[in-house]
Amino acid sequence: MEFDVVVIGGGLAGLSCAIRLAEQGKRCGVVSAGQGALFFSSGSLDLLSRLPDGSPVTSPLEALGELSRQAPRHPYSLLGAQAVTALAREAQTLLARCDLSLFGRSAQNHWRVTPLGTRRATWLSPADIPVTELGQVLPWSKVLVAGIEGFLDFEPHLIAGSLATEQEIDAATAYVHLPALDPLRNNPSEFRAVNIARVLDIPENTRALAEELNRLAGDAECIILPACIGLDGPRPLEQLRAAVSRPVRLLPTLPPSLLGLRIFQALRQRLTRLGGVFMPGDRVLKAKFDGRRIAGVYTRSHADIMLRAQQVVLAGGSFFSNGLVADRDRIYEPVFGADVWSHADRGEWSRADFFAPQPYLQFGVKTDNDLRVLLDNEPVENLYAVGAVLGGYDPLQQGCGAGVSLISALHAAQRIALSLKETA
Ligand SMILES: Cc1cc2nc3c(=O)[nH]c(=O)nc-3n(C[C@H](O)[C@H](O)[C@H](O)COP(=O)(O)OP(=O)(O)OC[C@H]3O[C@@H](n4cnc5c(N)ncnc54)[C@H](O)[C@@H]3O)c2cc1C
Repeated sequence: MEFDVVVIGGGLAGLSCAIRLAEQGKRCGVVSAGQGALFFSSGSLDLLSRLPDGSPVTSPLEALGELSRQAPRHPYSLLGAQAVTALAREAQTLLARCDLSLFGRSAQNHWRVTPLGTRRATWLSPADIPVTELGQVLPWSKVLVAGIEGFLDFEPHLIAGSLATEQEIDAATAYVHLPALDPLRNNPSEFRAVNIARVLDIPENTRALAEELNRLAGDAECIILPACIGLDGPRPLEQLRAAVSRPVRLLPTLPPSLLGLRIFQALRQRLTRLGGVFMPGDRVLKAKFDGRRIAGVYTRSHADIMLRAQQVVLAGGSFFSNGLVADRDRIYEPVFGADVWSHADRGEWSRADFFAPQPYLQFGVKTDNDLRVLLDNEPVENLYAVGAVLGGYDPLQQGCGAGVSLISALHAAQRIALSLKETA
């Protein structure tokens, strides 16, 4: 099998890189072993919410200079502020071309309401979740936080308490009971957001939900629900909103996350519509080198048939997705054996304080300033690393996970398109 580009990993980074290349007519194959972080994410995309020294960031692009002083190995610092600014803009237009409706802008973070009802700064949020500009409060003085009876991944009282304390909102709570959900209740492990959405998206059940909410809403100006509706698109939520005649907002639930899943589906659809080949459930096992170039890769399902490519993108994610592996005394990248930022001393991998920034979150593949993977301190000519597999940053403490994935992916796509043009 022959491609212009083979991408290893079908998460946010791998998919957005492949989409950008497919938009330019490149033949892309994406091999993806399993579910990436999007399936477990809030659905909001972070660009930069905190500097390494802990200071909060209001305007991510203005903070890039200070970031590169504090974290010179951060992927944004390698690419430089000018490139990051342009690529952040490009990322937003790419997401819009995937028909994703997102609130937010790169110039300034906004607050999203979390599953605990607290607020967290972020870059882009699904249009359906409650958000405000920084320093502001939600525009409703009375809301109803409605849980679903028996659904344990959403805690209305906790959310209402935080809304009252942090935003002085009079938040009532209630539980929706719908007989249509009873069959799911028989097995608690099945009573999850995605399965609930499959039931609630059926029009007669959406209508029943609306009736129940109208009964419970009282004088609430807005209803907040767990994100358990609209699995395949916005239509069921639109129907619900029309029937309850007041704003309805969704909050992310514990994983699996419907809001993150929707982003994955939108990206995957865009890629396949553009002619990209998505290979789910397959894993790249090893590569064939030709000097300092990769000639192709071998996967579990394709056995000894090599996937040949002129350019290869490593987007395998971090430990969570097995893009990086930790054994007793070393951290390694399993496909290419790339150079990795880590500590030789295992005692330095983590901190005993659970809430302290964890050093292992900064571990990851080393690259040159162009994001080409280093092997024995030298770049591999046609191998780029993008997204969570990269080292030098802490997505959790710095609130920059999705931003690094999108921006590094679009940078690699740009470099690859250029080099394919030169060799054409
Ligand atoms: C649980 C969790 C929640 C998060 N929530 C948020 C959030 O709400 N907002 C935010 O901004 N950031 C969040 N992040 C940060 C997250 O890392 C980035 O936002 C981003 O989604 C990472 O995308 P990625 O494509 O780099 O990696 P991943 O999403 O991890 O995708 C990597 C993919 O590569 C595949 N893969 C790995 N090795 C191979 C191989 N050898 N062959 C083939 N496929 C392979 C994996 O199966 C996976 O599908 C979260 C991270 C985690 C772990």
